[in-house]
Amino acid sequence: MRPLLRKLLAPRQMEYLIIDRSFQIKEVSVGMKRFAETDDALPEGSDARDSFPEFIGLEEVLDDIVQGYRASFELKGITRGDKTNRFQAIYFDVTIIADDDGELLGDRLIVLFEDVTERMELEQALVQRGNEASLLLSALNTAHDYLGKIIISIADALLVTNASGKIKTANPAAQTIFGYSEAELIGQHISAVTPLQELWQRAQQAYEFGQADLLLHMETNCVTRTGRQTAIAFSCSLITSNEDDRHDFIYIGHDITERKQAEEKLKAARAIAESASQSKSLFLASMSHEIRTPMNAVLGMTELLLDTPLSMEQHDFVENIRTSGDALLNLINEILDLSKLEAGEMKLENLEFDLRSCVEEVVELLAPQAQSKGLEIINWIKNDVPDRVLGDRNRLRQVITNLMGNAIKFTSEGEVMVRVEMRSHHGNTDTVHFSIIDTGIGIAPEQRNKLFVPFSQVDASTTRKYGGTGLGLAICKQIVEIMHGEIGIASNLGSDVERGSIFWFTLPFQRPNNSGLQPGNPANITRMVGKRLLVVDDNANSRSAIAELLTRWQVQVDLAASATDAIAALRSSLTEQRFYDSALIDLEMPDLDGIALGRQIKATPEFASLPLILLTATHQMDITRQAVGTCFRDYTFKPVRSSRLLDVLERTLGIGNADNTANPSLTSTQTPPKSNLRILLAEDNPTNQKVAVKLLEKLGYRVEIAVNGQEVLTRLEQKTYDLILMDCQMPIVDGYAATQEIRRREGDRSHTIIIAMTANAMKEDRDKCIAAGMDDYVSKPISKDQIQAVLQKWGN
Ligand code: ADP
Repeated sequence: MRPLLRKLLAPRQMEYLIIDRSFQIKEVSVGMKRFAETDDALPEGSDARDSFPEFIGLEEVLDDIVQGYRASFELKGITRGDKTNRFQAIYFDVTIIADDDGELLGDRLIVLFEDVTERMELEQALVQRGNEASLLLSALNTAHDYLGKIIISIADALLVTNASGKIKTANPAAQTIFGYSEAELIGQHISAVTPLQELWQRAQQAYEFGQADLLLHMETNCVTRTGRQTAIAFSCSLITSNEDDRHDFIYIGHDITERKQAEEKLKAARAIAESASQSKSLFLASMSHEIRTPMNAVLGMTELLLDTPLSMEQHDFVENIRTSGDALLNLINEILDLSKLEAGEMKLENLEFDLRSCVEEVVELLAPQAQSKGLEIINWIKNDVPDRVLGDRNRLRQVITNLMGNAIKFTSEGEVMVRVEMRSHHGNTDTVHFSIIDTGIGIAPEQRNKLFVPFSQVDASTTRKYGGTGLGLAICKQIVEIMHGEIGIASNLGSDVERGSIFWFTLPFQRPNNSGLQPGNPANITRMVGKRLLVVDDNANSRSAIAELLTRWQVQVDLAASATDAIAALRSSLTEQRFYDSALIDLEMPDLDGIALGRQIKATPEFASLPLILLTATHQMDITRQAVGTCFRDYTFKPVRSSRLLDVLERTLGIGNADNTANPSLTSTQTPPKSNLRILLAEDNPTNQKVAVKLLEKLGYRVEIAVNGQEVLTRLEQKTYDLILMDCQMPIVDGYAATQEIRRREGDRSHTIIIAMTANAMKEDRDKCIAAGMDDYVSKPISKDQIQAVLQKWGN
């Protein structure tokens, strides 16, 4: 063992072996064994080639070293399995030198072993990293090329500028759009070669305000160098480099010239279509006027003819003329409405009105028609429905009238019910749900998609059996939609009505700021609170609707479905000492009808004093008169109207301001009172003059005639009139000009009531009349009811 050698070798993790020229081991350092191929110890005298097969063939090399021909010999990068960890290898270099001790040449050699595993591993890792880096570089180059190709091939113009606006990149599309070569664009300021000055300034500002995620848009017209006009939609965004916080702007421009041209064409086509549709509306409006004028004469004369003595056959013929005339008029109205709706010319009112009485009025108007078919008509308005709302009362009436008209038309037995309930409140808006429920022929689910489409009827045969135009539902849908509501047909499966149809619509209504007192409001409630009533009606829905109304006034209600139930209720009221203040009894009930029940009650001494009110229908007036003369104190019509029921109850119970006499309509005479109203009729058409004069005379008015506006003015110079019925279109001086002149002459001193009578049915015509100074408006053909209502209103 050579201590010096050991000391020299230890820091470098080197070991040594001393051998002679025939590879016999003479000496071994302590850690040598780990470099050997074999696991055996390396005993002195053994052949080194057994443990180090790398030495085989080196015999001459050893001789040369021993003889001094060669200083040393190196073997590099020998590898062995690590004896301490079989998954690892060690690497070592071997150097053979002569063991001459610096002086004597012997035949000994020193073989030095240096462990180079760590170095080798480092070298390998380095090689691997190198490989990875070149792979990455090649992927990067591919991606760069790919991106370059995309930029080159995109149809949109792409420009990249640096922070100060100098162009760094311009793709071929940008070169085409702006008409410059790439060389001319690069290095230029963006605003010098493009119309993007404004976008550039906005981008700069946004960047200065720290909006790093900015994305700006702008549409602009570009004129290329060659003078070609293009419309371009530009977007501009910011890209910031992560390394040096450098920022660039990227502009992408999309050529929208074709789109703009298409838009222009569309605009022009729309303008043409709109003007065509306007001409259609104008045509329809003037046609409607032209048809209404002779219709006025036909219907007016028919009405007069019906009041003359006619044979049965003649009466039938005239009735037919009237029905057909009414149908024709209805058709004209519907077509006019539809054309106005489709032309977007239906203007809505937004005025305060009483929702409850609006619904009640429509139902009341249609009730006689249904009742004469033997149908029960029910008007069930839930108590949470607001009384006063803002909206268009007339359009609401039109929708309910249409749906209810259909329900009555397509129902031959059972009932038609209008139900109104609250759907939701949002802020100042109440959404109200209306449903019109009938027990008629119904509509098969697969047919329902035909509804709400103009001129569409579920089944062609209905046209023959039921008549109609197929316009009503289409009009309803459009009206409801312009009122921001919804309309539909519900399935009646599982509802309390087993057959028939349920049409529904919802409408949002604004709440008015200060709504006045209504029949259901506290002032009325207090008078009725605590009263006890018995309602006798065989129809369950009708009972519930009346009960709902009565509970609104805090009346205590008991319900009876038949005469037997009613008697039983009366008896138990006696035993329980909870006496009724009155009983409302339906006239038409199976088994024992209302009158028979009334008689029975009056014949029973314990109940004889109970005031009875008959629930009747307009076509039952004869029976009603008799009944009220005998066992009934009073009557009211079904479906009940809240204000009428309240009147009747107050009269019957002797409360409030009601006068305690019988129902005034029973005592009213058929002959109209004579009126002293001085009326002037301005009308140029002789037949229409005749119709109006006859109608007015029948209503008890006397009337003078002027044939045009000029004559009106002349007559007014000679005498005064209380009211002028003014046709609008007349020769020489028309109704508008005549009215303006009258108002000019009157100034503030006097005011003659002027009512327009015109066949122009548009809302604008009404506005025109009011603007000319007229006070009111009736549309032709004028009916007895209409003229009577207007004269009663203004005659006072
Ligand atoms: P019209 O009643 O004038 O034919 P509408 O548009 O009001 O036109 O109705 C279209 C069709 O819808 C009717 O012809 C009828 O077939 C069907 N319909 C409407 N309402 C009802 C209903 N309550 N019951 C059954 N069918 C109905």
